[in-house]
Amino acid sequence: MDISRRPPRYKPLLSPPPPRHSSASGDSSDHRSSPKASDALPLPLYLTNGIFFTLFFSVSYFLLRRWRDKIRNSTPLHVLSLSELAAITCLIASFIYLLGFFGIDFVQSFISKQEGEDHQPQRFIPDIIQEDRSIHCSLPPPSPSKPKLMELPQDDEDLVKCVVSGEIPSYSLESKLGDCFRAAKIRREALQRLTGRSMEGLPLEGFDYDSILGQCCEMPVGYVQLPVGIAGPLLLNGCEYTVPMATTEGCLVASTNRGCKAILASGGATCVLLRDGMTRAPVVRFASAKRAAELKFFLEDPLNFDTLSVVFNKSSRFARIQGIQCAIAGKNLYIRFSCSTGDAMGMNMVSKGVQNVLDFLLNDFPDMEVIGISGNFCSDKKPAAVNWIEGRGKSVVCEAVISESVVAKVLKTSVSALVELNMLKNLTGSAIAGALGGFNAHAANIVSAIFIATGQDPAQNIESSHCITMMEAVNNGKDLHVSVTMPSIEVGTIGGGTQLASQSACLNLLGVKGASKESPGSNSQLLAAIVAGSVLAGELSLMSAIAAGQLIKSHMKYNRSSRDITKIGS
Ligand code: ADP
Repeated sequence: MDISRRPPRYKPLLSPPPPRHSSASGDSSDHRSSPKASDALPLPLYLTNGIFFTLFFSVSYFLLRRWRDKIRNSTPLHVLSLSELAAITCLIASFIYLLGFFGIDFVQSFISKQEGEDHQPQRFIPDIIQEDRSIHCSLPPPSPSKPKLMELPQDDEDLVKCVVSGEIPSYSLESKLGDCFRAAKIRREALQRLTGRSMEGLPLEGFDYDSILGQCCEMPVGYVQLPVGIAGPLLLNGCEYTVPMATTEGCLVASTNRGCKAILASGGATCVLLRDGMTRAPVVRFASAKRAAELKFFLEDPLNFDTLSVVFNKSSRFARIQGIQCAIAGKNLYIRFSCSTGDAMGMNMVSKGVQNVLDFLLNDFPDMEVIGISGNFCSDKKPAAVNWIEGRGKSVVCEAVISESVVAKVLKTSVSALVELNMLKNLTGSAIAGALGGFNAHAANIVSAIFIATGQDPAQNIESSHCITMMEAVNNGKDLHVSVTMPSIEVGTIGGGTQLASQSACLNLLGVKGASKESPGSNSQLLAAIVAGSVLAGELSLMSAIAAGQLIKSHMKYNRSSRDITKIGS
């Protein structure tokens, strides 16, 4: 990429006066932040100017009058009194000051005008486009309290140099330029020069950088490409879904696809939503454990719930408080609020509601010290028993009965082998390992792949992958009952990364894009059910591969195969 050869597409949003002395090297702004002589004046500039103006005109007037008197009296002009000498000194001093102050700026305006004309050909994009871009980029209005200290170079090459030298902070490019793509391009070039490392291979073009500004990613320099595969159809609650999975793990999509096939051939899976509530737990401190306990009793008293609901629910028309659970550690109180959040994953929403309640509680508990809006009893993005036991986000159970023939033909194993393996691996083995919510074969694989494809927060795969997989022989031992119970699937179909083009397309494929108009919350609940159904398929397939001793064979086939794809099909 050669930035230097390309003229800028847009001029900077905040049109500054032309630069005073842009050098050919582009290193044009050393002077911009340098102190001005006026900084050294003991009085404000306007006052100093006023004094010198008055001085200049009054001594001029005085000297002219003296000159006229001398001519009238025939006194030689060169004969000077002390007052005349002082007046002449003042005249010269004030003249030098005024010439220095106004004369240089006057001369400078001529030089600048010429320079401005030199730059003219580069400004070929109409202002209207710039204005349009600025709307997309949501630029903050220029702050009147912080005058702009430097002018932006017009040329991309100069901008890159300014970022490399540290003159323009890399993070400020979007707001300074009003063009998110150009900002990413300049930042990327500066990064390459600073590190001496090439970013070749990381694409820059073909991404809407406006769409991530202020909500998804800061200081972008490109985007990572991930393949998206599809598994399905997944027959779930009578409907078929094609599940998008973003992954670089060979075998994963193929394996989930095989599980979907087994479920489809056996009449489908059923998923039930047990609970839907996002949680946030601030930590507050009192001077004594007694006072902390008083607040606990207050919050858990059913008589206070309605009042607290009104305060909490005003955070959003979708936020509806469900319950409050308190835990005490000495004089510290952890308050776990749980609320429904419509189709949003809900962290922002619940946090706003919690803030409202905390503000409200301070009226009755002024001695309460809010230590943090999140006290880890929530618990977000960390393995924690509270989520495993109480649930967080969507709690679901999903089941299917896989017929004996399907187990044999599609999964290439037997019901008894699967039941035994599940007992010894997913239950006993995980118990021996001291697992926390990890009583499964690879739920996290499927959860992460769907999360990434559909714009969920991938860090929440930690609790979202909590899963216990059960397998039991039914129908006189002929068929297999398989289930996955997942208490904390944290998903949304609105907000965060879900609105980005690729992720939105994947949600659209599942029919759960955006907010549900008819029944708020139903889209995100369906997405959680699809996640669980896909996990069910993944569990079935991987467990079967292990039971049949095929795991290594299939991984060698899909993970380490040659690039000749004709061999994969054999
Ligand atoms: P989160 O709480 O998951 O971080 P955001 O607060 O970023 O999500 O996004 C949710 C926003 O979407 C809220 O402003 C909310 O008012 C709006 N919204 C519109 N329709 C819905 C819906 N059906 N469910 C939830 N939020 C919705």
